[in-house]
Amino acid sequence: MTDGPVPARATRIAHVGIAVADLAAILPFYRELLDLPEVPLADADGARIAGLQAGESLIELLEARSSDSPIGKFVARRGPGIHHICFAVDDLDGTLARCRQMGIRLIDETPRLGAEGKRIAFIHPGATAGVLVELTEL
Ligand code: ZN
Repeated sequence: MTDGPVPARATRIAHVGIAVADLAAILPFYRELLDLPEVPLADADGARIAGLQAGESLIELLEARSSDSPIGKFVARRGPGIHHICFAVDDLDGTLARCRQMGIRLIDETPRLGAEGKRIAFIHPGATAGVLVELTEL
């Protein structure tokens, strides 16, 4: 064995965040019909979050606790729907540094704690074809 650098692990989709107007109304579709096990998650950014395990990824259903929260504003403006995609990367700080080098606009210049208890950062959708992208750690 040689002492080389630790190889990077593959980026994967950590979760898809879906903004919902009524969590209790939509939860049975994912939990009972699709049979996805529920994962307890903390509230974040003024939203109640229900996590559902879909293979290696989660579906996160986001319901606004107040109308002036990010999800509340999103639902008022665009209606319920896919809100963001979160990618787990091997090196969050390195990925953010590369975003800066490439001139990619970040919403979070420094990582903060997300609903899964991991460090996260959002990239501005203007830099990612209109998709709000969240990055987290593997
Ligand atoms: Zn998220």
